[in-house]
Amino acid sequence: MLWSLWCSTGLLRVMGVNVFKLSKSSLRNLDGVHPELIDVVKMAIQITKVDFGIPSTGGYRTAETQHKLFKDGKSKADGYTNKSYHQTGNAVDVFAYVDGKASWQPEHLSQVSCAMLEAAIRLDVNLRWGGHFKSFIDMPHFERGK
Ligand SMILES: [Zn+2]
Repeated sequence: MLWSLWCSTGLLRVMGVNVFKLSKSSLRNLDGVHPELIDVVKMAIQITKVDFGIPSTGGYRTAETQHKLFKDGKSKADGYTNKSYHQTGNAVDVFAYVDGKASWQPEHLSQVSCAMLEAAIRLDVNLRWGGHFKSFIDMPHFERGK
């Protein structure tokens, strides 16, 4: 329960502070994502201290989309020999939303991860955060373990 102690987002919510809502495009971008991950995102938006959204390539990806991201240097997985968790609907990427615009600043993304990890604990979902990866730190990325 380390994350619960760390975040205290539940307390903020009880106080009625910082309650955000997923935009229509964020919800659309979750199409094809595993229901457990969608539940985590939906709870996280209610308890987060920093607003966030889901970018257009942040949910389910075809091999083609994955390969394009790889070619653009935005992902380590090429989509064919090395598949991404996004291709099975078991990953989601987020961006923070601060002062009316998207942010990928570590201090903002770590606040979002706080809410995501707390939601995963509450819902008993095995969630890994890309910010904890050893070789390639990927702060916007969350994936569902088996
Ligand atoms: Zn990702």
